[in-house]
Amino acid sequence: MGKPTGFMEIARRSQPSRPPLERIKDWSEEHPHLSEAELTSQGARCMDCGVPYCHTGQLISGMAAGCPINNLIPEWNDLVYRGQWREASIRLHRTNNFPEFTGRVCPAPCEGSCTVGLNGDPVAIKTIEQEIVDRAWDEGWITPTPPLVRTGRTVAVIGSGPAGLATADQLNRMGHSVTVFERAGRIGGLLMYGIPNMKLDKDVVGRRVRLMEAEGVVFRTGVTVGADISVDEIDNSFDAIVLATGATVARDLPVPGRELGGIHLAMSYLRGNTRRLLDGGAGAEAPIDAAGKDVVVIGGGDTGTDCVGTAIRQGAKSVRQLEVMPQPPATRAANNPWPEWPKVYKMDYGQEEAAALWGADPRRYLTTTRRFMGRSEHVVGLEIASVAWAVGADGRVAMREVPGSTETIPADLVLLAMGFLGPEPALPRAFDCELDARGNIRTGADKMTSVPGIFAAGDCMRGQSLVVWAIREGRAAADGVDRYLSRGMGQHR
Ligand SMILES: Cc1cc2nc3c(=O)[nH]c(=O)nc-3n(C[C@H](O)[C@H](O)[C@H](O)COP(=O)(O)OP(=O)(O)OC[C@H]3O[C@@H](n4cnc5c(N)ncnc54)[C@H](O)[C@@H]3O)c2cc1C
Ligand code: SF4
Repeated sequence: MGKPTGFMEIARRSQPSRPPLERIKDWSEEHPHLSEAELTSQGARCMDCGVPYCHTGQLISGMAAGCPINNLIPEWNDLVYRGQWREASIRLHRTNNFPEFTGRVCPAPCEGSCTVGLNGDPVAIKTIEQEIVDRAWDEGWITPTPPLVRTGRTVAVIGSGPAGLATADQLNRMGHSVTVFERAGRIGGLLMYGIPNMKLDKDVVGRRVRLMEAEGVVFRTGVTVGADISVDEIDNSFDAIVLATGATVARDLPVPGRELGGIHLAMSYLRGNTRRLLDGGAGAEAPIDAAGKDVVVIGGGDTGTDCVGTAIRQGAKSVRQLEVMPQPPATRAANNPWPEWPKVYKMDYGQEEAAALWGADPRRYLTTTRRFMGRSEHVVGLEIASVAWAVGADGRVAMREVPGSTETIPADLVLLAMGFLGPEPALPRAFDCELDARGNIRTGADKMTSVPGIFAAGDCMRGQSLVVWAIREGRAAADGVDRYLSRGMGQHR
């Protein structure tokens, strides 16, 4: 710890963003940067605690507390304070394969458990992480480092999201020969076609993929395993297999009127928009376009926020966001103490933009949709009602509609962003892998499935989660595969 009194003398400053009304004019993630002096003084706010909760990465009350990949946060904070940026990048890459992704999109559970945050503002960990890795790329410090020796063992990774990429990166470094199969036209999973450009520029994903290619990872895009290439062929051609296929089955809303036109799953909408931006040129028509429409987004989470930000950039007439849960409190509730993830009210980028345009947070809490109303087979509105949550006779918290609270709101585009149920079951079943009660792929601590030599990582075994968890799972699966191959297993799959 370079400056023992830094946390008392220096106020937190995190990454600034462009004003909402300016940034909605484009799809860029561009933002102003803190100066070098400001960044080093932010590093000085770290207290280098005896027990640094920020890098513990545990689940407390079902939520991440601390960094799930155990980033060595106090160490690189100190290196930044001392201006040793290159060393900070080396230290950061010790635990994180892709800090340029997490530095942009991670919700930063590390900051929720930072000790300075107990009675003040936490250290700006995520901002510092992004600045370290962006500088490392800009300075040319990140260059291909292929393994010196190959083991002669082969691994198929199915799915190229952060879990598949982290698995492939780790295994390749260990000297194994890795082929990544991806059914989409581009590598990256939800980094490419889920998280929108204004949060994560697609060149940032492509740059890391090119580095991995230069280091020897083979990528095969446009290949659906189980259709374009058979499960048997994969099984017979590789010493080990890692399933990293994500949790792509979306939760639907089967209320009357669901069949009407103009009601779409959030991922169809977001994926189509990113494809238009990447392939169709700036002026091309989006597959689903919110321009001039009254948009209702159902679901108050991150996916919903991305729909709000995308609809605003497409030129929506109005955007409402419906959430069935209550609005979180402004500060931690008594049953949500530090170092738990703070469940507090926040305006994310999409809500800030809607508020700048129309004067208020577009989220409406404690609201359920009773039915969709239509004309000429197209949605024109929603019948909604207020709800209350209360403990029932069986001791469980249940939702009930508030009598007399029904009303209608207009909509000509409805986006369903209510989360994901789990992985598509066909592929794990074709490999004979057991699923758990929630439909996720069952694995042991080494990430091996019920079938020897077949491993699973990321959302397909954990359920829909975060990029940082996918990286953690991918690294753990790579360790499991390496131990399996080191025991001489997999020769006769
Ligand atoms: C809209 C949206 C926004 C999000 N925003 C954030 C955020 O800001 N921060 C954050 O931390 N997390 C965010 N998440 C969650 C995060 O993106 C996921 O937790 C993470 O991407 C999971 O990684 P994964 O590698 O397990 O799966 P995925 O990223 O889903 O990748 C799985 C890949 O497998 C491929 N695949 C599936 N089946 C086959 C097959 N048979 N053959 C070949 N390929 C196949 C798919 O095409 C896909 O590319 C967001 C999620 C969504 C939907
Ligand atoms: S990966 Fe996420 S939790 Fe870990 S240090 Fe970075 S922002 Fe914090």
